[in-house]
Amino acid sequence: MTNEPQPPALQAQGLRKAYGNKVALQSVSLTLQRGEFVALLGPNGAGKSTLIQILSGLFVPDQGDLWVLGHDIRRHASRALAQLGVVFQQSSLDLDLSVQANLLFHTDLHGLPRALARERIEQGLAQHGLRAQAKEAVRSLSGGNRRKVELIRALLHKPRFLLMDEATVGLDPASRQDLMRSVEALARSGEVAVLWTTHLVEEVVNAHRLVILNHGAIVYDGTPTDLRQRNDGLSLEEAFLAQCRKAAPAKA
Ligand code: ADP
Repeated sequence: MTNEPQPPALQAQGLRKAYGNKVALQSVSLTLQRGEFVALLGPNGAGKSTLIQILSGLFVPDQGDLWVLGHDIRRHASRALAQLGVVFQQSSLDLDLSVQANLLFHTDLHGLPRALARERIEQGLAQHGLRAQAKEAVRSLSGGNRRKVELIRALLHKPRFLLMDEATVGLDPASRQDLMRSVEALARSGEVAVLWTTHLVEEVVNAHRLVILNHGAIVYDGTPTDLRQRNDGLSLEEAFLAQCRKAAPAKA
């Protein structure tokens, strides 16, 4: 007898969403396995925010299905959401509460027993070099450290799918790199699948997989290296733009 194969961390099939007549997502299908670090890139208006809102359970698609670690988000929302961690572009920490109080608020929401919560918080803070800041108000932390606290928080309930929504916006280059390295290492450990959304091409260079969304559809799903090869060895930035042009809908 072999072990049952693990369901994908994320499986989206045929997602469609329109705002009135405006189709924001056409038919998006995407599967992420644990251990994968997948970058999602797209020009403005491509449909990234709409897709993220659907993947994070905030929006219901007009059509299509979504499973998080095999749990159907419509039929078993709480089980699906229990496997999801999100770091949103806009910070949602309480600036006047301590780092620890912010983290405990999250573990309480997830119903984690306090002793286990304190253990995981301690581990998370230690991993990111923030133990000394546990009792400090979030307001006193640098932007980079606040993001790390959000990352620690997103992982406290041990989700299998981590959604990073433009998480580096506003960070200086060193903090941005630091955050990316932590998240890449996390994916490599095999614990989670990471979907890293960004509009910065330089952030996707090391992704295992690059997914490009344009006009509400996935127009590329492969490695950054293959994208450059397909586009005559152009730089990654130029190859991204060329791929979007190729896949642009024909004008009437
Ligand atoms: P992105 O995040 O990639 O910039 P969005 O998901 O925000 O893309 O938008 C995709 C498309 O849907 C765009 O053409 C945008 O103008 C349109 N759109 C987004 N939100 C709304 C809304 N609330 N009402 C109407 N159109 C919208």
